[in-house]
Amino acid sequence: MNQTKGNAVSLAQLGHTVLRQRAAEVDNILGDECQHLINQMMLAVSKAGGVGIAAPQIYHSVRIFIMCSKPSVRYPDAPLMAPTAIINPEILHYSSEIVKDWEGCLSVPSMRGLVPRYSQITVCYFDQEGNKNQKKLTGFIARIFQHELDHLNGLTFIDRLESTKDLISEVEWYQQFT
Ligand code: ZN
Repeated sequence: MNQTKGNAVSLAQLGHTVLRQRAAEVDNILGDECQHLINQMMLAVSKAGGVGIAAPQIYHSVRIFIMCSKPSVRYPDAPLMAPTAIINPEILHYSSEIVKDWEGCLSVPSMRGLVPRYSQITVCYFDQEGNKNQKKLTGFIARIFQHELDHLNGLTFIDRLESTKDLISEVEWYQQFT
């Protein structure tokens, strides 16, 4: 689901320039503007049934994303985690192991790609309360983090594919993998 109607937030689609820019650092996390944007993003990702969303996807070029992994129609095998706002994220350390797995994107409708990502990363970021966190992430959660961080640097998962043969229709993906 990529198009929303009524008073829902619409999502930037591949080709929009906001998805190709380096997003700006946030300097006032506790300010109304940032807190409101986080709430909007939480709502948008929940309505769209995604496991993550980055601020550029709702046309705000700032370094914030939401991770909210849970099993869903879009991602049946996703682990459950509380929706978390990630602000000014950085990856401090990458594992040497890289794994390929399927990803979709609310800004790249109807497609899935087999994307190589680091299997384990050490990250730091600020949370919605303005506290700095450092964590080791693995597996699907590490994958979401890398996917969403790419959005803040003007990249989509398509830019990470090793081959265009690793890009398939979502209809085929559902038939083959669910
Ligand atoms: Zn995405």
